[in-house]
Amino acid sequence: MTTSTWWCAHAWLGGDRAESGIVLDVADGCFTAVRHAAAPPSGARILSGLVLPGLANAHSHAFHRALRGHVQRGRGDFWTWRDDAYAIAARLTPESYYALARATFAEMALAGITTVGEFHYLHHSLEGTAYADPHAFSTALVQAAAEAGIRLTLLDTLYLTGGVGQPPSGVQRRFSDGSVDAWAQRTSALVDGDQVRHGLAVHSVRAVPFGALREAGVVAAERAVPLHAHVSEQPRENADCRDHYGRTPTALLRDAGILSQRFTAVHATHVDAGDIGLLAAAGSGVCFCPTTERDLADGVGPASALTSAGVPLSLGSDSQAVIDLLEEARAVELDERLVTGVRGTFTASTLLTMATAHGLAALGWPMKGLAVGGPADFIEVGLESARLAGVTDASLLESAAFAGAAVDVNTTVVGGEAVVVDGQHVRLDVAHELRESIAVARGERS
Ligand SMILES: [Zn+2]
Repeated sequence: MTTSTWWCAHAWLGGDRAESGIVLDVADGCFTAVRHAAAPPSGARILSGLVLPGLANAHSHAFHRALRGHVQRGRGDFWTWRDDAYAIAARLTPESYYALARATFAEMALAGITTVGEFHYLHHSLEGTAYADPHAFSTALVQAAAEAGIRLTLLDTLYLTGGVGQPPSGVQRRFSDGSVDAWAQRTSALVDGDQVRHGLAVHSVRAVPFGALREAGVVAAERAVPLHAHVSEQPRENADCRDHYGRTPTALLRDAGILSQRFTAVHATHVDAGDIGLLAAAGSGVCFCPTTERDLADGVGPASALTSAGVPLSLGSDSQAVIDLLEEARAVELDERLVTGVRGTFTASTLLTMATAHGLAALGWPMKGLAVGGPADFIEVGLESARLAGVTDASLLESAAFAGAAVDVNTTVVGGEAVVVDGQHVRLDVAHELRESIAVARGERS
């Protein structure tokens, strides 16, 4: 049995305040005790910062990391941004995607992310035909996450049409399995492990027709796995859906039997009161990706209306404009302030719950934070930086949620194993791997 003991000067156990002097006992990857101790027990590893449960990134497209800094110039919109993303998608091979995803997931580990939901839609060759190994891309992602040291829910995505009523064209052919049956068959081979789970996704109402949505909902229900979809990210998606189906994307998903407690609507930026009622009635969640939504000028989603209706919010780095779940978390409250003129809708504790427990629930991991019996996934936010200097016991959570950043994460532990120590990945030179893999993905190097 592998055991370890950690002493936390400060730890967040889920309340409105951090606790001081907490011991975490770990055996075989799980917490066996969470207890108070004013001083470190002998042999304990000491974490002098603020310890939080591992962060959960509920919506990621790893390959978008190669777009950072290149899509922030000029004007453009979601649709011109998508053209840039497609150029990367056209170039990737399973080998180059493995390298890029490993580096990107390792950047997530540095940012304190211990679980990622990869919304994965790049499946086939440029001609749209299956590789000799039809699982080449998904295997690459599973391997990448394992080597980066973080847990993965692979949300294997159904994509059939290039827009409402349009066949896939160009690089979109790489995304399409051609039918729900082929998608169901391909994804049925995926196997869960200690650090990997499989879920499903329907890309959006743009990419999956109504009949196929119905069939996909049945597949997800039979497998009892998480099911995600992009929903109402853009007003044009709503307009196209209304023109074609006479209802909103959320209403279409409800009518197709997609909404359930296992369903997460990603973005939900432009949902209306009726949509919110449908999501709440079904027990579905919503994943906000605020740094992406602001980068793409999508808009600000109705956070308080959703949570008031009982819809849990989780958070995602999506386009990897930045990888910083603390930034995503505070954006929910700060963007809400800009829209409503009201401060204090979401407390630091509530925002951190979005970045942890809600994300894990959306990704199908039954974890309960720093609690006995659960997997020992936790992070230490260092309090030594100039940015966080002056923090007091009373302002710890607020400092972390409203001023902390990915770069403040000193320690990341997944299943009791330290993946990041002193702000460095224990196995990978992450910046070097990012530089190399991005250059290949962008066609600047072979
Ligand atoms: Zn997305």
